[in-house]
Amino acid sequence: MLEKILIEADVASTPIAEAVRRNAKDIEILDVPTGTAEESLRRLGLTAGKRVLLLKRFQGRFFKQCQGLKKEYSCCNLHTLAEANGCTMECTYCILQYYMTSPHLSVFANLSDLQGEIERVIHTQPSRIFRIGTGELSDSLLLDPLTESTRHMVPFFRRLPNAVLELKTKTDSVSNLLDLDHGQRTVVSWSVNPAEVGAREELKTAPIVRRLAAARRVAGAGYPVGFHIDPMIHHANWRDGYAELLDKLLDAVEPRQVAWISLGTLRFPPEMKGTMEARFPRSELRYGELVRGDDGKMHYLRPMRIEMYRHVVDGLLRRLEHESSKPVIYLCMEPPDVWKRVFDLPAPSNAALEHHFAENYWRRFGGGSLPEPKLSDYEGFGGCATEREPAQPSFVPISAVSEARFAAGASPGVST
Ligand code: SF4
Repeated sequence: MLEKILIEADVASTPIAEAVRRNAKDIEILDVPTGTAEESLRRLGLTAGKRVLLLKRFQGRFFKQCQGLKKEYSCCNLHTLAEANGCTMECTYCILQYYMTSPHLSVFANLSDLQGEIERVIHTQPSRIFRIGTGELSDSLLLDPLTESTRHMVPFFRRLPNAVLELKTKTDSVSNLLDLDHGQRTVVSWSVNPAEVGAREELKTAPIVRRLAAARRVAGAGYPVGFHIDPMIHHANWRDGYAELLDKLLDAVEPRQVAWISLGTLRFPPEMKGTMEARFPRSELRYGELVRGDDGKMHYLRPMRIEMYRHVVDGLLRRLEHESSKPVIYLCMEPPDVWKRVFDLPAPSNAALEHHFAENYWRRFGGGSLPEPKLSDYEGFGGCATEREPAQPSFVPISAVSEARFAAGASPGVST
């Protein structure tokens, strides 16, 4: 829980600062000169830092390529926004424990600069649909009851000609979203795990029942919904746990309203292990059979990951078999050979995967207002809007993967 909010002078009259003053209630607010607070905040411990929020101006580039764009992985070319840093929730596996140089939370209140940067970038490629997510170094909705950031961002994206916003959360803080004019240009997504894993490894988050009740509410308000079954955790009951989770997801939100479902397994830098053990002695993550991968991170052994993915992908395909409007199913931060063994077909190039996302979204949610995606518009832009890489030709769309596997009766020998 937050105990103190510091507002730097040069953002003191922004809409975000005004909303924070309105909503802070029992939290102490201090106005501070610009640039004076950060140094002492850096000296706080990880746990104490999570009680302090700094509102400041962001000076760098807001708009970035997702960290999944590495040569080791097949990547969907999501872009991310540096809107905030830090989180008051306590997931045992949270990468921020290792990544952040400062333990406190920051919200960058110069929203008009952020919006200007988005407009400039997406206008350089008007025929490409950009998917842009917040929540890479924070949770997209955690501070929304305070900042009301979504009340600016959702209508802003609704007006953009070629971009879709993704808000990713483990909270149920959706009240600000329900009456907004979103035009299906915002996807609200939840990171999910079986209740047993959530209770042990995702401390201070909303339990899965509350996350899914919130998903049902935003779906009722017409938003497309996303699910990220990530990080999947290997545990004694994992097969039943993930099978039950799939039932709950598709019971909460009708498949036709699910934009995408991603899968990823536990991964963290080896240097983070000591911090995890010291901060979360009851966590069971340390008992997993983990090895260092090509990307330098600790992962479950490859055959174990493939078995887990196939179990969930097969379960999803079975449940979606008769749906005419299917979400994109994809792996996050996995190399092409893992994709191939999960889907039984060559992994897509980054450009082809991005095009597949765009085509699926355009067909199911675009409402005629997004540009029709052509693969040629995505080839040559495997990375950030300003970086070019050659496209690989081996892509088979995921929808075809699903159909091919069913047509061939290709059961991988794992069942839900
Ligand atoms: S919700 Fe996300 S950002 Fe917050 S502690 Fe968990 S993993 Fe980290």
